[in-house]
Amino acid sequence: MEKKSCHEKVCKRCGWCCTSLGKEIGLSMEEDKKLKKLVFEGSGVIYLRSLNRYFLAMLPGTAEKLKKRAKKMGIKADIRPNKLIYDKKTGKVIIYDYYLNHTKCPFYKDKECLVYEDRPAACRKYPNIDSSYAKEVKDFVKKNKIDFSGLSYEEALKKCKSGCKLS
Ligand code: SF4
Ligand code: SF4
Repeated sequence: MEKKSCHEKVCKRCGWCCTSLGKEIGLSMEEDKKLKKLVFEGSGVIYLRSLNRYFLAMLPGTAEKLKKRAKKMGIKADIRPNKLIYDKKTGKVIIYDYYLNHTKCPFYKDKECLVYEDRPAACRKYPNIDSSYAKEVKDFVKKNKIDFSGLSYEEALKKCKSGCKLS
């Protein structure tokens, strides 16, 4: 039977999670849009990518490190903005985090993680997945005094689309 998730308490380094990124979860286009709107209303976050797939997310510091390491190692790593937030007050689009646009991690080779010491927090935690990101985003918005009040999802989406370089 195909493995769908990891049930190990301690990682056995089988590599399944590193090679099973970007799995589809079966959302229709309509459901995808509805979910994105709900996420925006709750947190101010705009996703430009489809939510129909799980991708490996990482904070900007990690994304920067992995981009540099990939360049040095001659690895093609497609790391793109993931969660965007438009701040009405400053008129800026903030990139909260990035995602790895791959179904198999390009840093996984010969059953090893080539960037082990710099791997994203999600890799460090897996298979313990928590859903605390919503709270983390809310804290980030509060701490940085980001203002998205009164903005509609459509307005914020437009601002993020025009204000963000996708790779
Ligand atoms: S965390 Fe990943 S590599 Fe470790 S046992 Fe689970 S699936 Fe395998
Ligand atoms: S960064 Fe390392 S641990 Fe994370 S998915 Fe890639 S190979 Fe696996």
